[in-house]
Amino acid sequence: MGVFEAIGTETHEEVLFGVDHESGLRTIIAIHSTALGPALGGTRFFPYPDEDAALRDVLRLSKGMTLKSAAAGLDLGGGKAVIIGDPATLRSERLIRAYGRVIDSLGGRYITAEDVGTTVDDMVLIARETPWVSGLPYAQGGSGDPSPETARGVMAALRAVGDRVWGSTDLAGRRVAVQGVGKVGMDLVRRLTEAGAETIITDANPDAMAFAAETYGSEPVGLDEIYDVECDVFSPCALGATLNADTIPRLRCSAIAGSANNQLATDTDIERIVARGILYAPDFVVNAGGVINIAVETDGYSIERAEAMVDRIYDNLSEVFDTAERDGVNPDVAATRFALRRIDQIGRLRVKRRPGEQ
Ligand code: NAD
Repeated sequence: MGVFEAIGTETHEEVLFGVDHESGLRTIIAIHSTALGPALGGTRFFPYPDEDAALRDVLRLSKGMTLKSAAAGLDLGGGKAVIIGDPATLRSERLIRAYGRVIDSLGGRYITAEDVGTTVDDMVLIARETPWVSGLPYAQGGSGDPSPETARGVMAALRAVGDRVWGSTDLAGRRVAVQGVGKVGMDLVRRLTEAGAETIITDANPDAMAFAAETYGSEPVGLDEIYDVECDVFSPCALGATLNADTIPRLRCSAIAGSANNQLATDTDIERIVARGILYAPDFVVNAGGVINIAVETDGYSIERAEAMVDRIYDNLSEVFDTAERDGVNPDVAATRFALRRIDQIGRLRVKRRPGEQ
């Protein structure tokens, strides 16, 4: 597949291929949009079966970052990078630093961060070659692990859902089924418990299930059983594509809001959810806490500022629900419209250069 064919009509600005033969680095950086600011998005280090698969993934993910940052109200565009190979065998200091130099060559048009297969230690190595990296350890002036802020953002989203469905932001007494109690899901369960909600949980890791049951009194259920649980909100916090033709008819909830990326298996699944009268909170609006936290780091990290910005997910999601009602569209379409409207309006504002601006 040719690169231009793969890009198609998705309006990416630039796709950069980088190599370092000595370390075996093969990387693709996709800049989808810089209309609102530098393209920010993590680096995925993954053993893709072939280059086409890597290219398709980086193009898809970078576009998703444009929408996520725009909907979060950030002055950031969307980008993403992939390193092709198995991190367990290919990772070396030379490779990561060579990758840092590829990022540096973009002069700040792309800012990287952690993603699947990369670690905070990789970010520290990248920072030795370029300033265009975020998600450094807290002790080094960075923002540290974004997961707690992502969980905080899901809580803000759950309050917006509560306001819409039950006319109250109070989560006390609500039953929330959390699919996946990993870094985000476990912190979400902690926050829900503190807010007086009940949690029903599942996870592929029995130790995580036992911890949540003992520490927060969560009710554990089987991996497949979670779809049949009677609850107020179903919260996907594990893998993507768990909302599909098989699972949606089984759900017994009033709303869906969780941290997982790409929750809908296909474009038609949102209609299945709407048809069941379930309110869907679009994933890229709900799970923006992590990117907001990383964005705050790019101009000097402060947890207070990060938290205040993450809490605005309540307002962003409420505006998405308003747009959906006003325009007579589903929340997923409304969220995309909300993000694109901001890119259009603010992106065009930036055409007017300030004195001295490059
Ligand atoms: P994680 O790997 O720490 O947690 C995922 C959990 O899901 C693990 O405990 C795993 O055992 C469990 N799991 C795996 N398969 C499962 C299954 N079939 N059913 C139930 N549980 C299963 O990841 P995380 O950082 O907590 O992220 C969770 C989701 O949120 C991911 O989709 C991620 O892309 C998304 N997300 C995370 C962040 C963040 O800040 N960490 C930000 C935005 C989006």
